[in-house]
Amino acid sequence: MEDININHIYAVLEQLIDDNECSFDHHGYCQEHGWMDKSTCPHALAKEILKGENLTCKWTLTDDDQNLWETECDGLFILESDSPKENKMEFCCYCGKKLVI
Ligand SMILES: [Zn+2]
Ligand SMILES: [Zn+2]
Repeated sequence: MEDININHIYAVLEQLIDDNECSFDHHGYCQEHGWMDKSTCPHALAKEILKGENLTCKWTLTDDDQNLWETECDGLFILESDSPKENKMEFCCYCGKKLVI
């Protein structure tokens, strides 16, 4: 196994969950996903988890002269030239999330 980070887990979770809404019967069981238990249907739980997670890291240019970029996860990065996109940086080198500008 290659090194697994939390973002990979979220990505897998996203694939696994069913898009259909849960439909609970009077027992509180989820009919849609065949969840015959009083605890919350795992599809509903997984959606909750993914909703609360920000899967991207936004980079903002803070200093034009230095080409200094500030990352959403509180990192600072100086690029030789151009933007992270032009430097083909797809993921934040600090937190590993998808880099967006
Ligand atoms: Zn369900
Ligand atoms: Zn980051």
